[in-house]
Amino acid sequence: MGLFGKLFGKKEHDVQKPQTLSPPTPAPTPRAAPAPADQVIRVPCNQCNGHYKVRDGKYGMFAGCSNYPTCKSTLKLPDLVLKYLEIYGLNIYRWDKECYKCGKKTPVYSYYLDYDLAELDEIFSMGGPTAGLGDLSYIDELLSKQIPTIQMRYSRPTNSKYMANTCEHCGALQGRNYVVDDPHEIIGELWHDRGMEKYLYRRLEIENTAPLAKDIRQLYLQGE
Ligand SMILES: [Zn+2]
Ligand SMILES: [Zn+2]
Repeated sequence: MGLFGKLFGKKEHDVQKPQTLSPPTPAPTPRAAPAPADQVIRVPCNQCNGHYKVRDGKYGMFAGCSNYPTCKSTLKLPDLVLKYLEIYGLNIYRWDKECYKCGKKTPVYSYYLDYDLAELDEIFSMGGPTAGLGDLSYIDELLSKQIPTIQMRYSRPTNSKYMANTCEHCGALQGRNYVVDDPHEIIGELWHDRGMEKYLYRRLEIENTAPLAKDIRQLYLQGE
């Protein structure tokens, strides 16, 4: 278990991420960049003109102001993520896959929160929690209202409902895990090459992040 395994605790992931990652690339079009001059993705400090950086403290990861020790403002990690989403929104990615049932190409969509967060701090790309379609219910809800092929489906094995991509031709479920952590089609771009720009569909603005708070806390609260 790596650094993040220890820091973020609890969650295990099916997908093995490569050990070495390319440096994060800047977001294509930030909605409201705090530092537009150099295009740096930052969450501005609540109390001064600094910005938050992820730090590893005695009690785990947190965000502290870049002007420490002059400014002692801190944020819990989930609150940093929520503030990031409020400022920048979330990228929605789209690519085509062949429907297993009808064989036609159909668009599938997902978001990759940890991929986007790596713009803010590379530490988010180092094996932290992953979140994609089906993980953040409020985002799933927003997307399903805008993209008709994203629909609520029922899974018999786990006896649960979840939002998933469906084929635009035959309606077949495209598979939640396959879509979120796609091991065959885009995993290289996602975790190794950091080349997701070519799949960028659009940036989803999130006016109110409050409905997301519960899911984000669950993801980013550290394990004991
Ligand atoms: Zn500050
Ligand atoms: Zn189909």
